Amino acid sequence: MPRCARSSCGRWSPWFRRRDAGITIDGRWFCSIGCVEGVARRRLLDARPSATGLPPAGQIRLGVWLRHQDGLSEQQVEQVLEAQRHSGLRFGAQVTTLGWASREAVLRALARQAGVGYLAELDASNVTHAPAGLSPHAARALSLVPFCEPERGRVKVACAAPLPRMGLAAFRRLTGMTPEPYFVTDDTWDTLVTAYGSALEGPTSSRFIETSDLSEAAATIAAAAAGGSGANARLTEARFEPYTWVRVENDGITHDVLLASGGAGACQVLSTSH
Ligand SMILES: [Zn+2]
Repeated sequence: MPRCARSSCGRWSPWFRRRDAGITIDGRWFCSIGCVEGVARRRLLDARPSATGLPPAGQIRLGVWLRHQDGLSEQQVEQVLEAQRHSGLRFGAQVTTLGWASREAVLRALARQAGVGYLAELDASNVTHAPAGLSPHAARALSLVPFCEPERGRVKVACAAPLPRMGLAAFRRLTGMTPEPYFVTDDTWDTLVTAYGSALEGPTSSRFIETSDLSEAAATIAAAAAGGSGANARLTEARFEPYTWVRVENDGITHDVLLASGGAGACQVLSTSH
C-alpha cells in the first residue's frame, strides 16, 4: 500500500482516501497538494547546476585569434586594448568600431575561441514557429533560441557570445535534448529572440511562470502537478544563475516555473501557445 512520499508526512493511502486520490509525481505517491508543495519547495532549494557537457572555454584570447585569422598586428591589438579602456566596449566590438575586422571575422574568432559554430546570418522565419517547442520566455531566460526541429535528440540553437553555459546545461536537463550552439551577432540574436514563437496561435499546451517568491513557485508547481487527471506528473529541475527552473509535465501540458533569486519581487504570469 502506498505511503505519502513526503518524509515528514508518511500517511498511508488506503486508510483515508479513495484509491484514485492523491497526486503521483515521477511514480511517487503524495497524499495532498500540501505535501507536493513541501517537496517542490525542497527541490527548488536543493537544485544544483548540472554539468555543462561542453568543452572547456578556449584559453586562447580573442586578439590572438584575430591576429592569426585576420592579420591584426600586435600593435593594433595594443591599440584596441587602449581604446577599450575609454569606451568600455568588448574587445570584438572595439575591433569592428575601429574598422580593423568585419563583424563576421569577430564572430568567427569568438566561435573558434568558444569551440562552437557560428552563423553570419540566420533568418528569423526559421524560429517563428518555435522549433523544439520552448516558450519564448523560456528561450529568453535560457539565452538560446532553437532554430531547427530536433533530430535524433540533438537541436541546433543560436546564442550570442559569451556562450550561455548554464542556460545550455539547463536546456539539456529540462528537455533531455543536446543543444548544439551556434554564435550569431548581437543584432541577429535580438531579432531571433523576439521572433521565436511569434507565429504561434491557438490552444495553450505550455505555460511559463516567472517569480522571485519561493512559496509562490512551490504552490504553482504543486497546482500544476495536481491538475488534469493527476495520473503521473513528471518533474525536472535545473539551476542556472540567477534562476532555478522546474518543469512540470502533466496531462500533455508543460509548465515551466522559473524562480529568480534576488529578483525585484515582481511576478509575471505568462501563457504561450504551442
Ligand atoms: Zn502527505
